[in-house]
Amino acid sequence: MTGSGKTEVYLEAVAECLKQGRQALVLLPEIALTAEFLTRVEARFGARPAEWHSGVTMTERRRLWRMVGQGGAQMVVGARSALFLPFRELGLIVVDEEHDTSYKQEDGVLYHARDMAVLRAALAGCQVVLASATPSLESWANAQAGKYGRLDLGARFGVAELPDMRAIDMRGQSLANDRWISEPLAQAVAARVAFGEQAMLFLNRRGYAPVTVCRACGHQVGCDDCDARMVEHRFLKRLVCHQCGATKPIPTVCPACGVAGRMAPVGPGVERLAEEVTARFPQARLAVLSSDLFGSARALKEQIGVIAAGGADIIIGTQIVAKGHNFPLLTLVGVIDADLGLQGSDLRAAERTFQLMRQVAGRAGRAEKPGLALLQTHQPEHPVIRAILGGDEEAFWSAEAEERRVSGVPPYGRMAGIILSSPDVALAFDFGGELARRDAPLRRIGAQVFGPAPAPIARVRGRHRVRLLVKAEKGVPLQAALAEWLGQLKLPANLRLAVDIDPQSFL
Ligand SMILES: [Zn+2]
Ligand SMILES: [Zn+2]
Repeated sequence: MTGSGKTEVYLEAVAECLKQGRQALVLLPEIALTAEFLTRVEARFGARPAEWHSGVTMTERRRLWRMVGQGGAQMVVGARSALFLPFRELGLIVVDEEHDTSYKQEDGVLYHARDMAVLRAALAGCQVVLASATPSLESWANAQAGKYGRLDLGARFGVAELPDMRAIDMRGQSLANDRWISEPLAQAVAARVAFGEQAMLFLNRRGYAPVTVCRACGHQVGCDDCDARMVEHRFLKRLVCHQCGATKPIPTVCPACGVAGRMAPVGPGVERLAEEVTARFPQARLAVLSSDLFGSARALKEQIGVIAAGGADIIIGTQIVAKGHNFPLLTLVGVIDADLGLQGSDLRAAERTFQLMRQVAGRAGRAEKPGLALLQTHQPEHPVIRAILGGDEEAFWSAEAEERRVSGVPPYGRMAGIILSSPDVALAFDFGGELARRDAPLRRIGAQVFGPAPAPIARVRGRHRVRLLVKAEKGVPLQAALAEWLGQLKLPANLRLAVDIDPQSFL
């Protein structure tokens, strides 16, 4: 589905389900579960739906669990784990923002809530609706293959068209070393603010600066326990590792060469961008939306409410701003670094960048005022950037799907990532090598194993990480083969093994 009118459409389906006396479950990413959304549902149905998310007390949860089991709660609105409520008479599951990566839990139990919802619906004999303005390639492909019905919503559902989108070619801009807002973007921001409208600057980087470097010897401060550079958070006055959460003071003396006074932050994070905005637009009211600046999801949601009501002129945001919030006064979105997501070797880098840029751009001009999105890029001719600007969604998905089909990767083939982690790097490699040699159970289903190789993030919390990748055709019994393959060897005490089927990322 396209655009924000999707909520009205699936609430119609919910109404139909309730009329038949069956229960309905609406799943949303945690951050999108706002008071605004619940009020909207209440206005539509005349009663507040039951809620299931991290902000609900244990007592409330127990009560809801019982009610659902007795068929008492007609409509439940919840985060991912609401799927496991013991519904008695489930008639409909809606997965809103189905492309959202928060549906896939990356640590602990590995399941994808979207896939679980489809499975649960099949078992319960109920309907499932996957709703998104920027669907995942999996769902797009399933619709293409005729497995899912597809409903496209156009302007007649009150859906704002995507804003006018343009690139700012950064190769033609000369900016000072600690400046990231180009002249055309700055002028556009100034014009919106002068009209009493809102402008948003999007940068998907938390903290002040992604790297702290020694100007004397070039040393970059890294985490002691991870294969990661530490990010300066000026708000906390600390360096923070985004892998493990470890922190240390910002050094004044270089830990490598011992020279004092030459340590310098390099590159922008949202906190640093905020400094630039304050300097350039001293009169404007600035709000920074970054998950780490708020103690709780509730505090963050409150701040979003304040901004939506006009409490800021310029908003700086990380990817949390992409998640379906309505800012009626917002008419300009400036993407500080549209190339950021295109780096790295992630299979889904193109898909994610495409979705993220379109979602962020979609924040602009959602009410009556037309919006404009400006993307700062060093590679305006990159196929993904061109697809974003051209707005040709189908062409992008077709090209992306074809590329994946040719290389036999999800959703056209199956993959499994095996991560071995241990304080002892040799042990992890030896064990991985032994697994790779004993690949008969995999070969029987025509699957191949690659590795062991250092995982893209080779060390986290002091544990070395080694990865094997298994690639199989669609439709083969991959899970059973994996179980047999991994069951051949006993895991040594200081080695951990994690299996991720059809991984969302390869970190
Ligand atoms: Zn140094
Ligand atoms: Zn770390």
